[in-house]
Amino acid sequence: MAHIRTIAQMGHPILRQISASIADLENPAMVSLGADLLETARHANGVGLAAPQVFESLRMIVIASRPSVRYPHAPELPPVLMINPELLWVSDEQDAGWEGCLSIPGLRGLVTRHIRTGVSYITVDGKRRESEYHGFPARVFQHEFDHLQGKLFIDRLESLNDLVTEQEYQRRLLEKP
Ligand code: ZN
Repeated sequence: MAHIRTIAQMGHPILRQISASIADLENPAMVSLGADLLETARHANGVGLAAPQVFESLRMIVIASRPSVRYPHAPELPPVLMINPELLWVSDEQDAGWEGCLSIPGLRGLVTRHIRTGVSYITVDGKRRESEYHGFPARVFQHEFDHLQGKLFIDRLESLNDLVTEQEYQRRLLEKP
Protein backbone atom coordinates (compact mmCIF):
# COMPACT_ATOMS: atom_id res chain seq x y z
CA MET A 1 0.00 0.00 0.00
CA ALA A 2 1.61 3.22 -1.16
CA HIS A 3 1.53 6.39 0.90
CA ILE A 4 1.55 9.98 -0.21
CA ARG A 5 4.63 11.52 1.38
CA THR A 6 5.24 15.10 2.48
CA ILE A 7 7.45 17.00 0.04
CA ALA A 8 10.53 18.80 1.38
CA GLN A 9 10.53 22.50 0.56
CA MET A 10 13.45 24.63 -0.62
CA GLY A 11 15.54 25.66 2.37
CA HIS A 12 15.40 22.22 3.98
CA PRO A 13 19.01 20.96 4.17
CA ILE A 14 18.14 17.47 2.85
CA LEU A 15 17.65 19.01 -0.61
CA ARG A 16 21.31 20.09 -0.56
CA GLN A 17 22.85 16.73 0.39
CA ILE A 18 24.42 14.24 -2.01
CA SER A 19 22.23 11.14 -1.85
CA ALA A 20 23.62 7.71 -1.00
CA SER A 21 23.56 4.73 -3.40
CA ILE A 22 21.07 1.99 -2.61
CA ALA A 23 22.82 -1.30 -1.86
CA ASP A 24 19.99 -3.57 -0.73
CA LEU A 25 17.15 -3.51 -3.26
CA GLU A 26 15.18 -6.14 -1.39
CA ASN A 27 14.99 -4.09 1.78
CA PRO A 28 11.24 -3.60 2.32
CA ALA A 29 11.87 0.06 3.14
CA MET A 30 13.32 0.54 -0.39
CA VAL A 31 10.36 -1.23 -2.00
CA SER A 32 7.86 0.96 -0.15
CA LEU A 33 9.90 4.10 -0.88
CA GLY A 34 9.62 3.30 -4.61
CA ALA A 35 5.86 2.80 -4.42
CA ASP A 36 5.46 5.97 -2.36
CA LEU A 37 7.55 8.04 -4.81
CA LEU A 38 5.33 6.95 -7.71
CA GLU A 39 2.15 7.65 -5.75
CA THR A 40 3.37 11.02 -4.42
CA ALA A 41 4.43 12.19 -7.92
CA ARG A 42 1.05 11.17 -9.33
CA HIS A 43 -0.89 12.85 -6.54
CA ALA A 44 1.07 16.12 -6.87
CA ASN A 45 0.82 16.22 -10.72
CA GLY A 46 4.59 15.98 -10.87
CA VAL A 47 6.45 14.84 -13.99
CA GLY A 48 9.24 13.56 -11.79
CA LEU A 49 10.26 13.20 -8.17
CA ALA A 50 13.48 12.35 -6.36
CA ALA A 51 13.81 10.55 -3.01
CA PRO A 52 15.45 13.53 -1.22
CA GLN A 53 12.25 15.45 -1.94
CA VAL A 54 10.43 13.03 0.38
CA PHE A 55 13.17 13.31 3.05
CA GLU A 56 15.13 10.19 1.99
CA SER A 57 18.70 10.94 0.99
CA LEU A 58 18.89 7.94 -1.37
CA ARG A 59 19.50 7.53 -5.09
CA MET A 60 16.00 6.83 -6.35
CA ILE A 61 13.94 8.90 -8.80
CA VAL A 62 10.69 8.72 -10.74
CA ILE A 63 10.27 10.01 -14.29
CA ALA A 64 6.56 10.38 -14.98
CA SER A 65 6.04 12.64 -17.97
CA ARG A 66 2.38 13.19 -18.75
CA PRO A 67 0.20 16.18 -19.59
CA SER A 68 -1.23 17.95 -16.53
CA VAL A 69 -2.32 21.39 -15.37
CA ARG A 70 1.31 22.08 -14.41
CA TYR A 71 2.77 20.71 -17.70
CA PRO A 72 0.09 20.80 -20.42
CA HIS A 73 2.57 19.99 -23.22
CA ALA A 74 4.35 17.08 -21.54
CA PRO A 75 4.35 13.84 -23.57
CA GLU A 76 2.58 10.81 -22.09
CA LEU A 77 5.08 8.16 -20.97
CA PRO A 78 4.59 5.29 -18.51
CA PRO A 79 6.13 6.23 -15.14
CA VAL A 80 9.61 4.79 -14.58
CA LEU A 81 11.17 4.17 -11.19
CA MET A 82 14.97 4.36 -11.32
CA ILE A 83 17.33 3.12 -8.63
CA ASN A 84 20.95 4.36 -8.63
CA PRO A 85 20.47 6.21 -11.95
CA GLU A 86 23.53 7.26 -13.92
CA LEU A 87 24.00 9.79 -16.68
CA LEU A 88 26.01 7.90 -19.34
CA TRP A 89 26.31 10.60 -21.96
CA VAL A 90 24.74 13.90 -23.05
CA SER A 91 24.32 15.56 -26.44
CA ASP A 92 26.29 18.70 -27.21
CA GLU A 93 23.05 20.36 -28.28
CA GLN A 94 21.21 22.12 -25.49
CA ASP A 95 18.02 24.09 -25.26
CA ALA A 96 16.29 26.31 -22.75
CA GLY A 97 12.97 25.30 -21.23
CA TRP A 98 10.77 26.25 -18.30
CA GLU A 99 11.02 24.06 -15.23
CA GLY A 100 9.19 23.91 -11.97
CA CYS A 101 9.82 21.82 -8.89
CA LEU A 102 7.47 20.41 -6.24
CA SER A 103 10.04 21.58 -3.67
CA ILE A 104 9.88 25.16 -5.02
CA PRO A 105 6.16 25.82 -5.38
CA GLY A 106 4.90 28.89 -7.19
CA LEU A 107 8.05 29.53 -9.24
CA ARG A 108 9.32 28.60 -12.69
CA GLY A 109 12.75 29.03 -14.17
CA LEU A 110 14.18 28.98 -17.67
CA VAL A 111 16.92 26.33 -17.57
CA THR A 112 19.34 25.20 -20.27
CA ARG A 113 19.70 21.41 -20.51
CA HIS A 114 21.15 18.83 -22.90
CA ILE A 115 18.55 17.82 -25.49
CA ARG A 116 19.47 14.12 -25.44
CA THR A 117 20.77 11.91 -22.65
CA GLY A 118 21.80 8.29 -22.29
CA VAL A 119 20.96 6.93 -18.86
CA SER A 120 21.24 3.70 -16.94
CA TYR A 121 19.49 2.58 -13.79
CA ILE A 122 18.43 -0.45 -11.78
CA THR A 123 14.77 -1.46 -11.90
CA VAL A 124 12.74 -2.43 -8.86
CA ASP A 125 13.33 -6.08 -9.95
CA GLY A 126 17.08 -5.53 -9.74
CA LYS A 127 17.73 -5.43 -13.50
CA ARG A 128 20.09 -2.91 -15.06
CA ARG A 129 18.50 -0.94 -17.91
CA GLU A 130 19.82 1.59 -20.38
CA SER A 131 17.61 4.17 -22.07
CA GLU A 132 17.94 7.17 -24.29
CA TYR A 133 15.80 10.25 -23.74
CA HIS A 134 15.08 13.15 -26.03
CA GLY A 135 13.45 16.51 -25.30
CA PHE A 136 11.14 16.87 -22.31
CA PRO A 137 11.86 13.48 -20.64
CA ALA A 138 15.61 14.18 -21.03
CA ARG A 139 15.03 17.49 -19.23
CA VAL A 140 13.05 15.75 -16.46
CA PHE A 141 15.82 13.17 -16.01
CA GLN A 142 18.50 15.87 -15.69
CA HIS A 143 16.34 17.79 -13.20
CA GLU A 144 15.73 14.70 -11.02
CA PHE A 145 19.35 13.55 -11.31
CA ASP A 146 20.40 17.00 -10.07
CA HIS A 147 18.31 16.43 -6.92
CA LEU A 148 20.54 13.43 -6.09
CA GLN A 149 23.55 15.75 -6.28
CA GLY A 150 21.91 18.29 -3.96
CA LYS A 151 21.23 20.67 -6.84
CA LEU A 152 18.05 22.60 -7.64
CA PHE A 153 16.98 24.17 -10.93
CA ILE A 154 17.52 27.65 -9.50
CA ASP A 155 21.28 26.85 -9.37
CA ARG A 156 21.25 26.57 -13.17
CA LEU A 157 19.56 29.87 -13.99
CA GLU A 158 21.70 32.15 -16.12
CA SER A 159 19.95 35.19 -14.70
CA LEU A 160 17.40 35.89 -11.98
CA ASN A 161 15.34 37.47 -14.78
CA ASP A 162 14.70 33.87 -15.85
CA LEU A 163 12.82 33.19 -12.60
CA VAL A 164 9.08 33.93 -12.78
CA THR A 165 5.98 33.20 -10.74
CA GLU A 166 3.64 30.37 -11.69
CA GLN A 167 0.98 32.94 -12.55
CA GLU A 168 3.30 34.77 -14.94
CA TYR A 169 4.40 31.45 -16.46
CA GLN A 170 0.76 30.47 -17.12
CA ARG A 171 0.11 33.89 -18.67
CA ARG A 172 3.04 33.43 -21.08
CA LEU A 173 1.90 29.90 -21.90
CA LEU A 174 -1.52 31.18 -22.95
CA GLU A 175 0.09 33.82 -25.14
CA LYS A 176 2.34 31.33 -26.95
CA PRO A 177 0.54 28.07 -27.83
ZN1 ZN B 1 12.59 19.20 -8.52
